[in-house]
Amino acid sequence: MTSIRNNLQQVRDRIATACAQAGRPADSVQLLAVSKTMPLANVLDAMAGGQVAFGENYVQEGVQKIEALRAWEAEGGRPAQVVWHLIGPLQSNKTRVVAAHFDWVHSVDRLKIAERLAEQRPAELAPLQVCIQVNIDGGASKSGVAPEEALALARAVAALPRLVLRGLMTIPEPVAGFAAQRAVHARARALFEQVRTAGIGGPAFDTLSMGMTADLEAAIDAGSTLVRVGTAIFGAR
Ligand SMILES: *Cc1c(COP(=O)(O)O)cnc(C)c1O
Repeated sequence: MTSIRNNLQQVRDRIATACAQAGRPADSVQLLAVSKTMPLANVLDAMAGGQVAFGENYVQEGVQKIEALRAWEAEGGRPAQVVWHLIGPLQSNKTRVVAAHFDWVHSVDRLKIAERLAEQRPAELAPLQVCIQVNIDGGASKSGVAPEEALALARAVAALPRLVLRGLMTIPEPVAGFAAQRAVHARARALFEQVRTAGIGGPAFDTLSMGMTADLEAAIDAGSTLVRVGTAIFGAR
């Protein structure tokens, strides 16, 4: 087994253990493999290990990889069931290429971006699955909508055509220790429940995207349904 496939199995084991400890079913948390800065060969390796969902941060790099995978398939590579997620910041001048290539966007934090994605999603593709990025801890990165504005943005995004509002996404500032990590993730969980209880997005609103290599156990304990893991699968960048 390659080290990527081996790492993948270890991450799956971490997720399963965290689910068991939180009293949650093992299949209640999806693994998104974050392949930013990694070559297509590493994506193919993870695919051979059964990984389906991949996350990219940078629009241009992601689009290049998506197209390279298509070319690889066209040349006789195994047809891929890959689902591509954009998890990095999205500027308005990049929405068209994103709408044409990705399956998911986690980083919607303004109505204008969502409106452009809705307008530009090609009719022959399935609706784009989107999450609203929330700046849950007021972190210096400044990406994400303020928590108190999340409900209004969710309501507006849920009303747009060609998009399906799937949930919320957070990237908290790194903190050390399970309890401190869990406290921040618990705030995101509470906001997620607030949106869900308000009925915004209906049954499709089922995704809480939080937790990375360093804090996935705390995120799962707080209710994450999708962890985004790069380093533990592909190694240091
Ligand atoms: C890079 C990145 C990840 C993965 O981080 P690791 O610490 O390598 O697991 C997850 N989410 C986002 C938004 C990222 O940019």
